[in-house]
Amino acid sequence: MIYCKRCLYAENHPLNIVFNEKGLCSGCLIHEEKDKINWIERSKKLESILLNYKNISGNNYDCIIPVSGSRDSFFIVHTIKNVYKMNPLLVTYNKQYNTDVGIRNLAKLRTVFNCDIMTLTVSPEIVKKITRATMRKMGSIYWHCIAGQTVYPVQTAVKFKIPLIIWGAHQGVDQVGMFSHIDEVEMTRKYRKEHDLMGYEAEDLIDEFDQIYEQDISQFKYPEDIEIEKIGVRGIYLNNYIRWDSKAQHEAMIKLYNYETNYQTRTFDHYNDVDCYNYSDIHDYIKFLKHGYGKIIDHVTREIRLKRLKRNDAINIVKKYIYKKPENLDLFLDWIGMTENGFNYIIDQHRNKKFWHRNENWEWELKQTLIFNNSKIHSIDESLQLNVNEEFKNFIITEQKYSSDKKNSYILIGKGC
Ligand SMILES: [Zn+2]
Repeated sequence: MIYCKRCLYAENHPLNIVFNEKGLCSGCLIHEEKDKINWIERSKKLESILLNYKNISGNNYDCIIPVSGSRDSFFIVHTIKNVYKMNPLLVTYNKQYNTDVGIRNLAKLRTVFNCDIMTLTVSPEIVKKITRATMRKMGSIYWHCIAGQTVYPVQTAVKFKIPLIIWGAHQGVDQVGMFSHIDEVEMTRKYRKEHDLMGYEAEDLIDEFDQIYEQDISQFKYPEDIEIEKIGVRGIYLNNYIRWDSKAQHEAMIKLYNYETNYQTRTFDHYNDVDCYNYSDIHDYIKFLKHGYGKIIDHVTREIRLKRLKRNDAINIVKKYIYKKPENLDLFLDWIGMTENGFNYIIDQHRNKKFWHRNENWEWELKQTLIFNNSKIHSIDESLQLNVNEEFKNFIITEQKYSSDKKNSYILIGKGC
C-alpha cells in the first residue's frame, strides 16, 4: 500500500488520489495553495459572482443554500446572508437518522438567520426500502442521505427558478486535490454519481427483487439536463473563494450563534456530523470494512495539512478510533427491521478482501497492509513534513441544551429549542 509521505492518505482512498515523485499526494499539494492564494482577491471574485444573482426586483430568492443541523451549515448561511447580504432560500433533506442536537441546531438556524426554509421528508417506508436495497447492492446505509442532500437543492432550483446553489467545501478539492482551487470547479451530475453516490443514481435502484419501482425513487432523481439549462442552474463551492478551515469556522459559529457540538463515536471531530446517529458511527464503520479507511483518517489528514498535528501523533490518534465498533447499531436495526446477523451477513459481502481475511477460527482479521496496523511500513521523510505552528487542541463539546424531543431515538420531525 502506498502512503503519502506527509498525510495519512493512501492509494485506497475512495476518491481518486495520485502521488508525485517525492511521494506527496495530490491532496497535500493542492492544500499548499491555501497558503499561497490571495484570498482577498478570491473573496472579491465571490462577491462579483453573487452580485450577478442578486434578485433586484425582490420577487424571488437570490440563491439556495442546502443546510442540515451540522456540517458547515451555520458558516455558509452566516457568510452568504450576513457577510454578503444575500437573500437565500434554505433547503434541507431530512435524513431521518436525526439526533436531538441536530434538530436543535436546525431549529436555531431557522430562527437566528431569519431565513425561509424548505424541508423534504420522504416517506419513511420508502426510505427503509431504498436503504435495504443500497445495503444489498453497495453496502451503504447512507445512500439515501447523500442522494437526497445533493438532489433536493437542484430540484428546488429548477422548480422555483433560482439558478444559484451555494455549497461549502468540494471534497475533491479539499481532501484529495482532484482540482485546484483556481479551477473553480462547480457542481456536476457526473461527480455526484461517480463519487457521492458510489456509481448508483436513483434510476439504477429500480429492481423487482428489492421491490423498488419508478414511483419510489422520484424524490431522488436528478432533473433533466434541459431543465437545468433552461434555468441556468449552477452550484458553486465556497472553499474556492474562502480559505477553508472547518475547525476554526465551527468554533466561530459556537461563539456567534451557540452552535451545539456533540461527542462522536469514531472521531475526535465533534463538530461536523452531530446531527446524525449514523454518519460517524455505523456508516463510518462500514467504510472501514469496505475500504480499510474511516473519517478519522480524513480528520487527522486535514489537521496535518493545517499545521496543527504531526504525522506520528496522527497515526496514534487513528489507532485509537479506527477499530471502534458502532454504538448506535441497535437503533438502526430496530428502525430498519433487521437482525444483527442479517446486517453482518449483508455487510460482509462488501468487505474488501485486500484488507480483510478469515483466520483459522473463521473470524475476520485485518491484514498488515494498513499503516495503523503495521508500524514497519511507516517511513518518514522529515523534509516533507510541515512545521506545526498551532497547538492541537481538543474539539470543544458544548453544553447540552434542553429540548423536549425524545433522547436515544431518531427524531423524524423535532421541536428543537
Ligand atoms: Zn498527502
